[in-house]
This record gives sequence, C-alpha cells and structure tokens, in this order.
Amino acid sequence: MKSDNTITALSRYYPTICITHKCNLNCTYCYQNHDEKRMSFETAKKVIDEIFNNIPPGFDSVEIDLIGGEPLLEFDLLKDIVQYTCSTPRKVKFLFYATTNGTVLDLEMKEWFAAHKNCFVLGLSLDGQKDTHDYNRSNSFDRIDIDFFRRHYPEQGIKMTLSEYSLSHLAENIKYCHSLGFPEIGGVNLAEGDFNWDSDEFIDVIITQLSDLVEFYVENDSLKLNQMFDKKLSMCDVKNSNVDKWCGIGTSTVFFDIDGRKYPCPFVTPMTFNKSALASIMKTDFEDASCFVDNDCCNDCYIYPICPTCYGANYLVNSTFKQRDKRRCRIHKLIALFVADLNAKLIIKTPDKFDDGTLLHTINAIKTIRELYLPEFDSLI
Ligand code: SF4
Ligand code: SF4
Repeated sequence: MKSDNTITALSRYYPTICITHKCNLNCTYCYQNHDEKRMSFETAKKVIDEIFNNIPPGFDSVEIDLIGGEPLLEFDLLKDIVQYTCSTPRKVKFLFYATTNGTVLDLEMKEWFAAHKNCFVLGLSLDGQKDTHDYNRSNSFDRIDIDFFRRHYPEQGIKMTLSEYSLSHLAENIKYCHSLGFPEIGGVNLAEGDFNWDSDEFIDVIITQLSDLVEFYVENDSLKLNQMFDKKLSMCDVKNSNVDKWCGIGTSTVFFDIDGRKYPCPFVTPMTFNKSALASIMKTDFEDASCFVDNDCCNDCYIYPICPTCYGANYLVNSTFKQRDKRRCRIHKLIALFVADLNAKLIIKTPDKFDDGTLLHTINAIKTIRELYLPEFDSLI
C-alpha cells in the first residue's frame, strides 16, 4: 500500500508509466530486461493526457506510478512529467508515486522531493538487514540514505522482495525494518517467485520464520500487520463472501510502456509475454469478473476469500486468467494456519480490538482452518 498525502483511496485509478528500462543494479530476483530504452518527453506528455482524458467512470482520483528500471535514473524526465501534469488544469485530484532502489538519490533530488511532498511520494525498496539486502540487491545497502525516507515519508512502508536466500532471514529482516521506524512492510509475498513449496526443507525453513513473526506481532500489537498476516479470517466463515477479482488488472490498473503503448498491468507486458499471448490477452473483457474467477477455488476452497492471486502469473503458467497456479496452494494453506494462530493469540490478548459482529466468525474460521490444514503440516509444525 502506498501512502497518501492528499487524496482518499476510495475510487482511485492506478496508471503506471515506465519511464526507463535502464537500471543500475542487478538484483537476484529481477525478471526485467534492462536495456537502455527510455520514454521521450513527447511520449510522456501524450500518455499523461491520455490518462486524464480517459479516466474510467467511478474514479475520482489518480495515482500515477513512475517506474523503471530505476526511475531516478531519469530524474529530469520525472520532473518534467510532474511539471507538465501540474501546469494544466486536471479534472480529478492526482498524486505521483515512485519506488526507488535509493542508490542514486543525490542532494539535488532530495531537495526536489522534499519540496514536492504534496504531489509526489517516494517509496524505498529495502530487503532488510545489510547482509540480505547486499546479497539480493548488488551490494547497495551502504549507498542508501534510509533516514531520508523515514523523515520525509513517515507513513510510507518499505517494499521488501524475497529471494531464496532471504527466506531463512525473513523474520529478522521484517523486525529490522520495523525497528528503523517503517510502519508497514509491503511486498513480502511467499506465493510469488519460484520457491519450491513441495519441498519439506523449504516448508521447514518458513515455518520457523512464520512462528517467530507471529510471536513478534502478538508482542508488538500496535504495529501494522505485514500484509501476509493482515487477513480477515471471518470472511471464510461467512457464506457468499466471494471475492470477484483480486486486483485491478485492466480496470483500475493500467500500464504504459516507454513507447506509450498501453497494457493491462505492469506484469502483463512484452517484458513477460510474447506477441501472440499478448494479442489473446488483449481480447479479455477486464470489466467482466467472471473471466478471472477460478470456479474450483471459489466453490470448493474454504480459504478462497483470503487467498490472493496474481492473474498475470497464472496466465504465464496456464495460458488463462481463470485458472490459478495450484502449485502455490500449499503455502497459502500454511499461511492461513499462521494467520489463524496469530488471530487466536490476539483474541486472547486484546479481545476488545475485535469487532463483536465478526468475532464469532473469526473463531469459527480459526477452528476450521486448523481442522482442515493442520494434518498436512502436523509432522513439521
Ligand atoms: S495481474 Fe498480478 S501484477 Fe497484474 S495487477 Fe494483478 S496482481 Fe498486479
Ligand atoms: S489455496 Fe489453492 S485452491 Fe484454495 S483458493 Fe488458493 S489457489 Fe485456490
């Protein structure tokens, strides 16, 4: 989640603009092709006008995400885009956002971002303590002024990405980032990436980490829960609590590549899919949620309401948005068990924090999740 200085998050449109493919790091998990191509200012102006002239009905604000590669390598273009957008009357409120690796942020940039906090939020990618961050992200820890981000964007979380190396350091890295003063650790997603969750060795490693984090969040119950744990269990126990579409692909989310071409989201682009797959994808009616619902999950899986998915990643595996990548079910179930454990402990510690209207459903969900999934992991937990 991104911090919001000026606009509410009720009905926000999220266009992403790729301003450069170039990056100065070579992170272990990066899937992008880092050529030298960049967006021209002429193209950027057309994209900005296209965004504001075509805001779909129902959206009353816009958050424009400028991405790369590393977006701060195109700082002059970034400034020009903001200046151009602000210099023309726009029908809706807007905010710019960029996530940076922090390594090229010099004094001039710091002064500009500090002076533009009302319209630009800068987020930091940080994978945790120095050893993990350096392993994942090209020895770049010492080049980041972490304090700049904490001082200027106190409500903003940091974005942490996992590698095989960082799995076994997950708890200490999340705790470390909280200790730096960041209220929220975003981006941690065990169900993404190519982790082999069929392997008991992997499961064993992550169980230790998740147990540690449950104890940490019970002890520090004023902290905002990491998104992996921040799930409304009660929804599993409420009949008909279907989730139609998990993300805004093609509706509230769109992506413009450096040549100005539009795609449904930052993942579903020529960087991930070939021409024929993209041509087929573009025929999808993104407004129609039924094109995205996996009926097996929706009808038969108890944790469907709290099981997020990435449709782009599913398409890559199954050539359809409708069928989820079921290789990830094991980790989803394990996470649900730890979310149940966390909720049980928090209900005992701070019952007043739970909504009376949903408490019974939460307790039922805790019991059912344990009954359904504990036997599978019994020998490991
Ligand atoms: S398909 Fe995946 S990458 Fe694209 S918007 Fe949805 S969650 Fe994000
Ligand atoms: S755990 Fe598997 S079956 Fe259940 S909702 Fe998630 S992807 Fe579908």
